[in-house]
Amino acid sequence: MVPPTTTPQRTKQRRGEGQWALGYREPLNPNERSKKDDNPLNVRSRIENIYAHGGFESIDPADLRGRFRWYGLYTQRKPGIDGGRTATLEPEELDDEYFMLRVRIDGGRLSTQQLALLGELSQTYARDTADITDRQNIQYHWIRIEDVPTIWRKLEDAGLTTMEACGDSPRVVLGSPVAGIAEDEVVDGSGAIDEILRRYIGDPRFSNLPRKFKTAISGLPDVAHEIHDVAFVGVDHPEHGPGFDVWVGGGLSTNPMIGKRLGAWVPEAEVPDVWEGVISVFRDYGYRRLRHRARIKFLVADWGPEKFRQVLEDEYLNRKLVDGPAPEVPAVPRDHIGVHRQKDGLFYIGAAPIAGRVSGSTLVEVAKVVERAGSARVRLTPQQKLVVLDVPEAEVKNLQADLAKLGLQTEPSPWRRGVMACTGIEFCKLAIVETKARAVELVSTLETRLADIVAGVTEPIAVHINGCPNSCARIQTADIGLKGMIVTDAGGQQAEGFQVHLGGGLGLDAGFGRKLRGHKVTAVELSDYVERVVRNFVAKRETDERFAQWVAR
Ligand code: SF4
Repeated sequence: MVPPTTTPQRTKQRRGEGQWALGYREPLNPNERSKKDDNPLNVRSRIENIYAHGGFESIDPADLRGRFRWYGLYTQRKPGIDGGRTATLEPEELDDEYFMLRVRIDGGRLSTQQLALLGELSQTYARDTADITDRQNIQYHWIRIEDVPTIWRKLEDAGLTTMEACGDSPRVVLGSPVAGIAEDEVVDGSGAIDEILRRYIGDPRFSNLPRKFKTAISGLPDVAHEIHDVAFVGVDHPEHGPGFDVWVGGGLSTNPMIGKRLGAWVPEAEVPDVWEGVISVFRDYGYRRLRHRARIKFLVADWGPEKFRQVLEDEYLNRKLVDGPAPEVPAVPRDHIGVHRQKDGLFYIGAAPIAGRVSGSTLVEVAKVVERAGSARVRLTPQQKLVVLDVPEAEVKNLQADLAKLGLQTEPSPWRRGVMACTGIEFCKLAIVETKARAVELVSTLETRLADIVAGVTEPIAVHINGCPNSCARIQTADIGLKGMIVTDAGGQQAEGFQVHLGGGLGLDAGFGRKLRGHKVTAVELSDYVERVVRNFVAKRETDERFAQWVAR
Protein backbone atom coordinates (compact mmCIF):
# COMPACT_ATOMS: atom_id res chain seq x y z
CA MET A 1 0.00 0.00 0.00
CA VAL A 2 1.30 3.47 -0.88
CA PRO A 3 1.07 5.68 2.21
CA PRO A 4 -1.39 8.54 1.79
CA THR A 5 0.04 12.00 1.28
CA THR A 6 -3.00 13.98 2.39
CA THR A 7 -4.64 14.12 5.79
CA PRO A 8 -7.27 11.39 5.90
CA GLN A 9 -10.08 11.46 8.45
CA ARG A 10 -10.10 7.70 8.83
CA THR A 11 -9.12 7.45 12.46
CA LYS A 12 -9.05 9.89 15.29
CA GLN A 13 -5.39 10.41 16.09
CA ARG A 14 -3.22 12.48 18.34
CA ARG A 15 -1.72 15.13 16.03
CA GLY A 16 1.82 16.26 15.86
CA GLU A 17 3.61 12.89 16.15
CA GLY A 18 4.80 12.94 12.55
CA GLN A 19 2.60 10.08 11.30
CA TRP A 20 2.65 9.74 7.55
CA ALA A 21 -0.99 8.61 7.53
CA LEU A 22 -1.97 11.95 9.04
CA GLY A 23 -0.13 13.89 6.39
CA TYR A 24 3.16 14.59 8.15
CA ARG A 25 5.48 13.89 5.25
CA GLU A 26 8.11 16.54 6.02
CA PRO A 27 10.85 15.10 8.23
CA LEU A 28 10.66 16.35 11.82
CA ASN A 29 14.13 15.24 12.94
CA PRO A 30 17.56 14.57 11.37
CA ASN A 31 17.04 10.78 11.21
CA GLU A 32 13.83 11.21 9.28
CA ARG A 33 15.54 13.76 7.04
CA SER A 34 18.39 11.37 6.27
CA LYS A 35 15.99 8.56 5.32
CA LYS A 36 13.98 10.89 3.11
CA ASP A 37 17.06 12.33 1.41
CA ASP A 38 18.15 8.92 0.24
CA ASN A 39 16.73 5.44 0.72
CA PRO A 40 19.19 3.84 3.14
CA LEU A 41 19.37 0.69 1.03
CA ASN A 42 21.16 2.75 -1.64
CA VAL A 43 24.23 3.00 0.58
CA ARG A 44 25.35 -0.42 -0.57
CA SER A 45 26.49 0.80 -3.96
CA ARG A 46 28.47 3.64 -2.35
CA ILE A 47 30.19 1.16 -0.05
CA GLU A 48 31.08 -1.10 -2.96
CA ASN A 49 32.06 1.60 -5.45
CA ILE A 50 33.48 4.42 -3.31
CA TYR A 51 34.15 3.74 0.37
CA ALA A 52 35.73 0.30 0.02
CA HIS A 53 38.28 1.88 -2.33
CA GLY A 54 38.68 5.25 -0.59
CA GLY A 55 38.89 3.80 2.94
CA PHE A 56 37.40 5.06 6.19
CA GLU A 57 38.26 8.71 5.54
CA SER A 58 36.21 8.77 2.35
CA ILE A 59 32.90 7.90 4.09
CA ASP A 60 30.15 10.55 4.19
CA PRO A 61 29.22 11.02 7.89
CA ALA A 62 25.49 10.78 7.03
CA ASP A 63 26.14 7.31 5.68
CA LEU A 64 28.61 6.36 8.40
CA ARG A 65 26.33 7.10 11.35
CA GLY A 66 23.03 6.50 9.61
CA ARG A 67 22.51 4.48 6.47
CA PHE A 68 25.36 1.99 7.09
CA ARG A 69 23.07 0.35 9.68
CA TRP A 70 20.74 -0.93 6.98
CA TYR A 71 23.58 -3.31 6.08
CA GLY A 72 24.46 -4.30 9.64
CA LEU A 73 27.41 -1.92 10.00
CA TYR A 74 28.14 0.23 13.06
CA THR A 75 31.42 1.89 13.88
CA GLN A 76 32.84 0.33 17.01
CA ARG A 77 34.06 2.19 20.06
CA LYS A 78 37.64 3.47 20.09
CA PRO A 79 39.60 1.37 22.57
CA GLY A 80 40.55 2.95 25.89
CA ILE A 81 37.67 5.41 26.36
CA ASP A 82 36.19 4.80 29.79
CA GLY A 83 32.46 4.62 30.39
CA GLY A 84 32.33 7.82 32.40
CA ARG A 85 33.14 9.74 29.21
CA THR A 86 30.59 8.06 26.95
CA ALA A 87 27.96 10.78 27.30
CA THR A 88 30.41 13.68 27.09
CA LEU A 89 32.11 12.92 23.78
CA GLU A 90 30.97 13.70 20.25
CA PRO A 91 30.17 10.68 18.03
CA GLU A 92 33.31 11.22 15.97
CA GLU A 93 35.44 11.10 19.11
CA LEU A 94 34.00 7.69 19.97
CA ASP A 95 34.13 6.25 16.44
CA ASP A 96 36.88 3.80 15.68
CA GLU A 97 37.70 3.20 12.03
CA TYR A 98 36.67 -0.45 12.42
CA PHE A 99 33.13 -1.78 12.27
CA MET A 100 30.82 -4.16 13.99
CA LEU A 101 29.11 -6.22 11.31
CA ARG A 102 25.89 -8.09 12.12
CA VAL A 103 24.90 -11.08 10.00
CA ARG A 104 21.19 -11.80 10.20
CA ILE A 105 20.42 -15.46 10.75
CA ASP A 106 16.62 -15.59 10.46
CA GLY A 107 15.19 -18.32 12.66
CA GLY A 108 18.76 -18.92 13.86
CA ARG A 109 19.06 -21.50 11.07
CA LEU A 110 22.49 -22.50 9.81
CA SER A 111 23.93 -25.40 7.92
CA THR A 112 27.34 -26.62 9.04
CA GLN A 113 28.72 -25.22 5.77
CA GLN A 114 27.37 -21.79 6.64
CA LEU A 115 28.68 -22.08 10.19
CA ALA A 116 32.15 -22.95 8.92
CA LEU A 117 32.05 -20.03 6.51
CA LEU A 118 31.02 -17.63 9.29
CA GLY A 119 33.98 -18.90 11.30
CA GLU A 120 36.42 -18.55 8.40
CA LEU A 121 35.27 -15.01 7.64
CA SER A 122 35.86 -14.13 11.27
CA GLN A 123 39.37 -15.61 11.16
CA THR A 124 40.21 -13.72 7.97
CA TYR A 125 38.49 -10.37 8.47
CA ALA A 126 37.35 -9.97 12.09
CA ARG A 127 40.37 -10.90 14.22
CA ASP A 128 38.60 -14.15 15.16
CA THR A 129 35.71 -12.34 16.91
CA ALA A 130 32.19 -13.74 16.85
CA ASP A 131 29.32 -13.30 19.27
CA ILE A 132 25.98 -15.09 19.20
CA THR A 133 23.45 -12.35 19.93
CA ASP A 134 20.13 -12.74 21.73
CA ARG A 135 18.46 -12.14 18.38
CA GLN A 136 20.04 -15.24 16.84
CA ASN A 137 22.53 -13.16 14.84
CA ILE A 138 26.28 -13.49 14.53
CA GLN A 139 28.16 -10.30 15.26
CA TYR A 140 31.74 -9.57 14.14
CA HIS A 141 34.10 -6.81 15.20
CA TRP A 142 37.25 -5.22 13.75
CA ILE A 143 35.82 -5.19 10.21
CA ARG A 144 37.55 -2.84 7.73
CA ILE A 145 35.40 -1.04 5.19
CA GLU A 146 37.78 -2.23 2.47
CA ASP A 147 36.80 -5.85 3.20
CA VAL A 148 33.03 -5.40 3.33
CA PRO A 149 32.20 -6.10 -0.34
CA THR A 150 34.19 -9.34 -0.27
CA ILE A 151 32.53 -10.43 2.97
CA TRP A 152 29.10 -9.70 1.48
CA ARG A 153 29.89 -11.69 -1.63
CA LYS A 154 31.04 -14.70 0.37
CA LEU A 155 28.04 -14.51 2.70
CA GLU A 156 25.61 -14.17 -0.16
CA ASP A 157 27.16 -17.08 -2.05
CA ALA A 158 26.28 -19.13 1.06
CA GLY A 159 22.73 -17.77 1.32
CA LEU A 160 23.45 -15.31 4.15
CA THR A 161 23.08 -11.54 4.31
CA THR A 162 23.58 -8.46 6.46
CA MET A 163 20.77 -6.54 4.74
CA GLU A 164 18.49 -4.82 7.26
CA ALA A 165 20.34 -6.43 10.14
CA CYS A 166 20.12 -2.98 11.80
CA GLY A 167 18.45 0.36 11.03
CA ASP A 168 14.80 1.45 10.96
CA SER A 169 13.88 -1.67 9.09
CA PRO A 170 12.45 -5.18 9.52
CA ARG A 171 15.24 -6.82 11.48
CA VAL A 172 16.07 -10.52 11.72
CA VAL A 173 12.99 -12.70 12.26
CA LEU A 174 13.31 -14.83 15.37
CA GLY A 175 12.17 -18.41 15.06
CA SER A 176 12.15 -21.54 17.17
CA PRO A 177 15.58 -23.21 17.12
CA VAL A 178 13.73 -26.54 17.03
CA ALA A 179 11.12 -25.66 14.41
CA GLY A 180 9.99 -28.73 12.52
CA ILE A 181 11.59 -31.25 14.86
CA ALA A 182 10.20 -30.62 18.35
CA GLU A 183 7.84 -33.34 19.53
CA ASP A 184 5.43 -30.85 21.12
CA GLU A 185 5.49 -28.06 18.54
CA VAL A 186 2.00 -26.72 17.72
CA VAL A 187 2.98 -25.61 14.23
CA ASP A 188 6.20 -25.03 12.25
CA GLY A 189 6.70 -21.33 11.45
CA SER A 190 9.71 -21.83 9.13
CA GLY A 191 7.71 -21.46 5.91
CA ALA A 192 6.24 -18.15 7.08
CA ILE A 193 9.71 -16.85 7.97
CA ASP A 194 11.04 -17.82 4.53
CA GLU A 195 8.14 -16.11 2.79
CA ILE A 196 8.59 -12.88 4.77
CA LEU A 197 12.27 -12.85 3.84
CA ARG A 198 11.53 -13.54 0.20
CA ARG A 199 8.82 -10.90 -0.12
CA TYR A 200 9.83 -8.06 2.14
CA ILE A 201 13.49 -7.92 3.21
CA GLY A 202 15.19 -5.33 1.03
CA ASP A 203 11.80 -4.08 -0.19
CA PRO A 204 12.02 -0.27 -0.32
CA ARG A 205 8.38 -0.03 0.83
CA PHE A 206 9.56 -1.17 4.26
CA SER A 207 13.06 0.27 4.46
CA ASN A 208 11.98 3.58 6.00
CA LEU A 209 10.10 2.72 9.18
CA PRO A 210 9.78 5.07 12.16
CA ARG A 211 12.20 2.84 14.08
CA LYS A 212 13.41 -0.76 14.15
CA PHE A 213 10.81 -3.52 13.77
CA LYS A 214 11.38 -6.84 15.51
CA THR A 215 9.50 -10.01 14.60
CA ALA A 216 9.24 -13.44 16.24
CA ILE A 217 7.45 -16.45 14.77
CA SER A 218 7.39 -19.74 16.62
CA GLY A 219 5.22 -22.76 17.20
CA LEU A 220 6.64 -22.91 20.72
CA PRO A 221 6.97 -20.26 23.44
CA ASP A 222 10.75 -20.03 23.01
CA VAL A 223 11.42 -16.71 21.27
CA ALA A 224 10.52 -14.06 23.88
CA HIS A 225 7.36 -13.27 21.92
CA GLU A 226 6.07 -10.98 24.70
CA ILE A 227 8.65 -8.31 23.91
CA HIS A 228 8.48 -8.07 20.13
CA ASP A 229 7.01 -5.42 17.86
CA VAL A 230 5.03 -8.25 16.30
CA ALA A 231 4.95 -11.92 17.23
CA PHE A 232 3.15 -14.99 15.97
CA VAL A 233 2.89 -17.71 18.61
CA GLY A 234 1.72 -21.26 17.91
CA VAL A 235 -1.78 -22.07 19.14
CA ASP A 236 -4.31 -24.80 18.44
CA HIS A 237 -7.68 -23.33 17.47
CA PRO A 238 -10.58 -25.54 18.61
CA GLU A 239 -12.28 -25.26 15.18
CA HIS A 240 -9.54 -24.35 12.74
CA GLY A 241 -6.57 -26.31 14.07
CA PRO A 242 -2.92 -25.25 14.39
CA GLY A 243 -2.03 -21.64 13.60
CA PHE A 244 -0.69 -18.52 15.28
CA ASP A 245 -1.86 -16.05 17.90
CA VAL A 246 -0.85 -12.46 17.01
CA TRP A 247 0.87 -10.12 19.49
CA VAL A 248 1.87 -6.49 18.87
CA GLY A 249 3.58 -3.67 20.70
CA GLY A 250 6.10 -5.37 22.98
CA GLY A 251 9.57 -3.96 23.55
CA LEU A 252 12.12 -3.15 26.24
CA SER A 253 14.71 -0.35 26.37
CA THR A 254 13.84 2.67 28.53
CA ASN A 255 10.02 2.27 28.32
CA PRO A 256 9.47 -1.48 28.56
CA MET A 257 6.09 -2.85 27.52
CA ILE A 258 4.70 -6.37 27.23
CA GLY A 259 3.07 -6.98 23.84
CA LYS A 260 -0.71 -7.12 23.52
CA ARG A 261 -2.69 -9.98 22.01
CA LEU A 262 -4.92 -8.95 19.13
CA GLY A 263 -7.13 -11.96 19.92
CA ALA A 264 -6.74 -13.12 16.33
CA TRP A 265 -5.85 -16.57 14.98
CA VAL A 266 -3.89 -16.74 11.72
CA PRO A 267 -3.09 -19.89 9.72
CA GLU A 268 0.55 -20.27 8.67
CA ALA A 269 -0.12 -19.43 5.02
CA GLU A 270 -1.58 -16.05 5.99
CA VAL A 271 1.18 -15.00 8.38
CA PRO A 272 3.15 -13.05 5.72
CA ASP A 273 0.07 -11.05 4.68
CA VAL A 274 -0.82 -10.21 8.27
CA TRP A 275 2.82 -9.35 8.96
CA GLU A 276 2.73 -6.97 5.97
CA GLY A 277 -0.43 -5.40 7.37
CA VAL A 278 1.09 -4.86 10.82
CA ILE A 279 4.35 -3.40 9.52
CA SER A 280 2.33 -1.14 7.19
CA VAL A 281 0.25 0.19 10.10
CA PHE A 282 3.53 0.92 11.86
CA ARG A 283 5.08 2.60 8.82
CA ASP A 284 2.06 4.82 8.23
CA TYR A 285 0.78 5.54 11.75
CA GLY A 286 4.01 5.14 13.75
CA TYR A 287 5.30 8.24 15.52
CA ARG A 288 8.17 9.86 13.64
CA ARG A 289 8.63 13.14 15.51
CA LEU A 290 10.62 11.86 18.50
CA ARG A 291 12.97 8.89 18.17
CA HIS A 292 12.32 7.76 21.72
CA ARG A 293 8.57 7.46 21.00
CA ALA A 294 8.88 5.93 17.57
CA ARG A 295 8.61 2.20 18.34
CA ILE A 296 5.27 0.55 17.60
CA LYS A 297 4.70 -0.07 21.33
CA PHE A 298 3.83 3.61 21.84
CA LEU A 299 1.19 3.49 19.11
CA VAL A 300 -0.28 0.27 20.53
CA ALA A 301 -0.25 1.73 24.05
CA ASP A 302 -2.18 4.79 22.83
CA TRP A 303 -4.62 2.93 20.59
CA GLY A 304 -5.11 -0.29 22.52
CA PRO A 305 -5.17 -3.70 20.78
CA GLU A 306 -8.84 -3.41 19.72
CA LYS A 307 -8.31 -0.26 17.68
CA PHE A 308 -5.02 -1.61 16.29
CA ARG A 309 -6.81 -4.73 15.07
CA GLN A 310 -9.63 -2.68 13.59
CA VAL A 311 -7.27 -0.42 11.61
CA LEU A 312 -5.30 -3.48 10.49
CA GLU A 313 -8.45 -5.24 9.27
CA ASP A 314 -10.27 -2.24 7.77
CA GLU A 315 -7.44 -0.33 6.12
CA TYR A 316 -4.81 -2.94 5.30
CA LEU A 317 -6.22 -6.47 5.13
CA ASN A 318 -9.72 -5.54 3.95
CA ARG A 319 -11.17 -8.48 5.84
CA LYS A 320 -11.86 -9.59 9.36
CA LEU A 321 -9.43 -11.84 11.17
CA VAL A 322 -10.62 -15.00 12.90
CA ASP A 323 -10.90 -14.74 16.68
CA GLY A 324 -8.63 -17.17 18.46
CA PRO A 325 -7.54 -18.47 21.86
CA ALA A 326 -4.42 -17.54 23.79
CA PRO A 327 -1.41 -19.85 23.55
CA GLU A 328 -0.41 -21.99 26.48
CA VAL A 329 1.98 -20.19 28.75
CA PRO A 330 5.01 -22.13 29.99
CA ALA A 331 6.22 -21.65 33.54
CA VAL A 332 9.68 -20.88 32.18
CA PRO A 333 10.40 -20.26 28.48
CA ARG A 334 12.30 -23.10 26.81
CA ASP A 335 16.01 -22.66 26.09
CA HIS A 336 16.66 -26.11 24.53
CA ILE A 337 19.84 -26.72 26.52
CA GLY A 338 20.74 -30.38 27.03
CA VAL A 339 19.83 -33.52 25.08
CA HIS A 340 16.29 -33.92 23.69
CA ARG A 341 14.59 -36.45 21.43
CA GLN A 342 13.24 -35.14 18.13
CA LYS A 343 9.97 -36.34 16.67
CA ASP A 344 11.86 -38.36 14.04
CA GLY A 345 13.82 -40.28 16.70
CA LEU A 346 17.08 -38.35 16.28
CA PHE A 347 18.29 -35.97 19.01
CA TYR A 348 18.98 -32.27 19.39
CA ILE A 349 21.59 -30.98 21.79
CA GLY A 350 21.67 -27.45 23.21
CA ALA A 351 25.03 -26.09 24.34
CA ALA A 352 25.99 -22.98 26.29
CA PRO A 353 28.89 -20.67 25.62
CA ILE A 354 29.08 -17.88 28.20
CA ALA A 355 26.93 -14.91 27.17
CA GLY A 356 27.18 -15.80 23.48
CA ARG A 357 30.90 -15.23 23.24
CA VAL A 358 32.53 -17.66 20.83
CA SER A 359 35.15 -17.08 18.15
CA GLY A 360 35.62 -17.76 14.48
CA SER A 361 37.90 -20.66 15.30
CA THR A 362 35.28 -22.14 17.62
CA LEU A 363 32.62 -21.93 14.91
CA VAL A 364 34.90 -23.70 12.43
CA GLU A 365 35.59 -26.47 14.94
CA VAL A 366 31.91 -26.79 15.88
CA ALA A 367 31.04 -27.31 12.22
CA LYS A 368 33.62 -30.13 12.05
CA VAL A 369 32.48 -32.00 15.18
CA VAL A 370 28.82 -31.65 14.22
CA GLU A 371 29.49 -33.12 10.78
CA ARG A 372 31.55 -35.90 12.36
CA ALA A 373 28.46 -36.73 14.45
CA GLY A 374 26.43 -37.11 11.28
CA SER A 375 24.50 -33.83 11.41
CA ALA A 376 24.50 -30.86 9.05
CA ARG A 377 22.23 -28.45 10.93
CA VAL A 378 22.90 -25.99 13.75
CA ARG A 379 20.65 -23.35 15.32
CA LEU A 380 21.40 -20.17 17.28
CA THR A 381 19.00 -19.30 20.09
CA PRO A 382 17.49 -16.11 21.54
CA GLN A 383 19.38 -16.94 24.76
CA GLN A 384 22.80 -16.61 23.04
CA LYS A 385 23.19 -20.39 22.88
CA LEU A 386 23.67 -22.97 20.14
CA VAL A 387 21.66 -26.11 19.31
CA VAL A 388 22.79 -29.03 17.12
CA LEU A 389 19.97 -30.87 15.36
CA ASP A 390 19.65 -34.38 13.92
CA VAL A 391 22.17 -36.22 16.07
CA PRO A 392 21.92 -40.05 15.98
CA GLU A 393 21.61 -41.55 19.47
CA ALA A 394 24.93 -43.37 19.14
CA GLU A 395 26.74 -40.05 18.58
CA VAL A 396 25.18 -38.04 21.41
CA LYS A 397 27.82 -38.68 24.08
CA ASN A 398 30.75 -38.11 21.73
CA LEU A 399 29.30 -34.86 20.48
CA GLN A 400 28.63 -33.65 24.01
CA ALA A 401 32.28 -34.29 24.86
CA ASP A 402 33.52 -32.61 21.67
CA LEU A 403 31.38 -29.52 22.30
CA ALA A 404 32.54 -29.32 25.92
CA LYS A 405 36.16 -29.28 24.71
CA LEU A 406 35.22 -26.21 22.66
CA GLY A 407 33.77 -24.43 25.71
CA LEU A 408 30.18 -25.30 24.82
CA GLN A 409 28.72 -27.17 27.75
CA THR A 410 25.58 -29.23 27.22
CA GLU A 411 24.97 -29.75 30.95
CA PRO A 412 25.91 -26.30 32.18
CA SER A 413 25.53 -24.92 35.68
CA PRO A 414 22.38 -22.82 36.20
CA TRP A 415 24.55 -19.68 36.10
CA ARG A 416 26.26 -20.51 32.80
CA ARG A 417 22.89 -21.47 31.36
CA GLY A 418 21.10 -18.34 32.56
CA VAL A 419 23.63 -15.59 31.89
CA MET A 420 23.34 -13.20 28.97
CA ALA A 421 25.32 -10.06 28.24
CA CYS A 422 25.25 -7.35 25.58
CA THR A 423 28.32 -6.13 23.70
CA GLY A 424 29.32 -3.59 26.36
CA ILE A 425 32.24 -1.23 26.55
CA GLU A 426 34.65 -3.42 24.63
CA PHE A 427 33.05 -2.37 21.34
CA CYS A 428 29.78 -0.44 21.89
CA LYS A 429 29.85 3.35 21.68
CA LEU A 430 26.87 3.74 24.03
CA ALA A 431 28.30 1.54 26.75
CA ILE A 432 29.19 2.70 30.21
CA VAL A 433 30.54 -0.58 31.60
CA GLU A 434 32.19 -3.88 30.65
CA THR A 435 29.76 -6.77 30.18
CA LYS A 436 31.03 -9.93 28.43
CA ALA A 437 34.20 -10.34 30.47
CA ARG A 438 32.17 -9.63 33.59
CA ALA A 439 29.74 -12.40 32.67
CA VAL A 440 32.64 -14.86 32.29
CA GLU A 441 34.06 -13.85 35.65
CA LEU A 442 30.65 -14.03 37.33
CA VAL A 443 29.89 -17.52 36.00
CA SER A 444 33.26 -18.85 37.03
CA THR A 445 32.96 -17.38 40.54
CA LEU A 446 29.41 -18.62 41.08
CA GLU A 447 30.26 -22.11 39.82
CA THR A 448 32.92 -22.33 42.53
CA ARG A 449 31.17 -20.57 45.37
CA LEU A 450 27.67 -21.97 44.92
CA ALA A 451 28.60 -25.60 44.28
CA ASP A 452 27.12 -26.52 47.68
CA ILE A 453 23.61 -25.33 46.79
CA VAL A 454 23.45 -26.12 43.08
CA ALA A 455 21.08 -29.04 43.70
CA GLY A 456 18.58 -26.58 45.15
CA VAL A 457 18.42 -24.54 41.95
CA THR A 458 15.98 -26.44 39.77
CA GLU A 459 15.65 -23.81 37.02
CA PRO A 460 18.37 -21.63 35.54
CA ILE A 461 18.53 -18.23 37.20
CA ALA A 462 18.65 -15.65 34.44
CA VAL A 463 21.30 -13.01 35.09
CA HIS A 464 21.35 -10.48 32.24
CA ILE A 465 24.02 -7.79 31.99
CA ASN A 466 23.63 -4.56 30.00
CA GLY A 467 26.34 -2.00 29.40
CA CYS A 468 23.96 0.99 29.44
CA PRO A 469 20.26 1.87 29.96
CA ASN A 470 19.27 0.29 26.65
CA SER A 471 18.17 -3.30 26.91
CA CYS A 472 20.09 -5.29 24.34
CA ALA A 473 20.41 -8.13 26.88
CA ARG A 474 16.77 -7.89 28.05
CA ILE A 475 17.55 -6.92 31.65
CA GLN A 476 13.97 -6.10 32.59
CA THR A 477 12.81 -9.67 31.94
CA ALA A 478 15.67 -11.38 33.79
CA ASP A 479 15.53 -12.86 37.27
CA ILE A 480 18.46 -10.61 38.08
CA GLY A 481 18.83 -7.77 35.55
CA LEU A 482 21.88 -5.55 35.71
CA LYS A 483 21.90 -2.14 34.02
CA GLY A 484 25.38 -0.70 33.57
CA MET A 485 26.02 2.69 35.10
CA ILE A 486 28.58 4.68 37.02
CA VAL A 487 27.96 4.33 40.76
CA THR A 488 29.62 5.65 43.89
CA ASP A 489 31.61 3.03 45.79
CA ALA A 490 32.02 2.72 49.56
CA GLY A 491 35.01 5.06 49.45
CA GLY A 492 33.03 7.76 47.64
CA GLN A 493 34.76 7.12 44.31
CA GLN A 494 33.01 6.84 40.96
CA ALA A 495 33.15 3.26 39.70
CA GLU A 496 31.61 0.92 37.16
CA GLY A 497 28.49 -0.67 38.55
CA PHE A 498 24.89 -1.68 37.99
CA GLN A 499 21.33 -0.76 38.83
CA VAL A 500 19.67 -4.02 39.85
CA HIS A 501 16.27 -5.16 38.56
CA LEU A 502 14.93 -8.19 40.45
CA GLY A 503 12.27 -10.71 39.53
CA GLY A 504 11.47 -10.01 35.88
CA GLY A 505 10.51 -12.81 33.54
CA LEU A 506 8.74 -14.17 30.52
CA GLY A 507 6.22 -17.02 30.29
CA LEU A 508 4.07 -17.30 33.43
CA ASP A 509 6.18 -14.61 35.08
CA ALA A 510 5.98 -12.17 32.15
CA GLY A 511 6.69 -8.79 33.65
CA PHE A 512 9.50 -6.43 34.50
CA GLY A 513 11.92 -6.74 37.37
CA ARG A 514 11.59 -4.45 40.33
CA LYS A 515 14.01 -1.56 40.30
CA LEU A 516 14.47 -1.18 44.01
CA ARG A 517 15.29 2.32 45.14
CA GLY A 518 19.01 2.73 45.63
CA HIS A 519 19.60 -0.87 44.69
CA LYS A 520 22.97 -0.49 43.02
CA VAL A 521 26.14 -2.54 43.16
CA THR A 522 29.66 -1.81 42.03
CA ALA A 523 31.16 -4.18 39.49
CA VAL A 524 33.67 -5.30 42.11
CA GLU A 525 30.85 -6.34 44.46
CA LEU A 526 28.82 -8.07 41.78
CA SER A 527 29.72 -11.71 42.51
CA ASP A 528 29.16 -11.20 46.26
CA TYR A 529 25.80 -9.62 45.58
CA VAL A 530 24.51 -12.33 43.21
CA GLU A 531 25.77 -15.05 45.55
CA ARG A 532 23.90 -13.46 48.45
CA VAL A 533 20.65 -13.14 46.51
CA VAL A 534 20.79 -16.72 45.22
CA ARG A 535 21.60 -18.17 48.65
CA ASN A 536 18.68 -16.25 50.10
CA PHE A 537 16.38 -17.52 47.39
CA VAL A 538 17.40 -21.15 47.83
CA ALA A 539 17.12 -20.92 51.61
CA LYS A 540 13.77 -19.15 51.72
CA ARG A 541 11.82 -20.27 48.66
CA GLU A 542 8.78 -22.41 49.07
CA THR A 543 8.63 -25.74 47.23
CA ASP A 544 8.68 -25.19 43.45
CA GLU A 545 8.57 -21.42 43.87
CA ARG A 546 10.22 -19.63 40.98
CA PHE A 547 12.60 -16.72 41.45
CA ALA A 548 10.13 -14.11 40.17
CA GLN A 549 7.42 -15.44 42.49
CA TRP A 550 9.79 -15.31 45.42
CA VAL A 551 10.73 -11.70 44.67
CA ALA A 552 7.07 -10.73 44.30
CA ARG A 553 6.11 -12.18 47.69
FE1 SF4 B 1 25.52 -1.12 23.76
FE2 SF4 B 1 23.85 -0.44 25.69
FE3 SF4 B 1 23.05 -2.21 23.84
FE4 SF4 B 1 24.86 -2.90 25.60
S1 SF4 B 1 22.71 -2.34 26.07
S2 SF4 B 1 25.02 -3.26 23.40
S3 SF4 B 1 26.00 -1.03 25.94
S4 SF4 B 1 23.55 -0.05 23.49
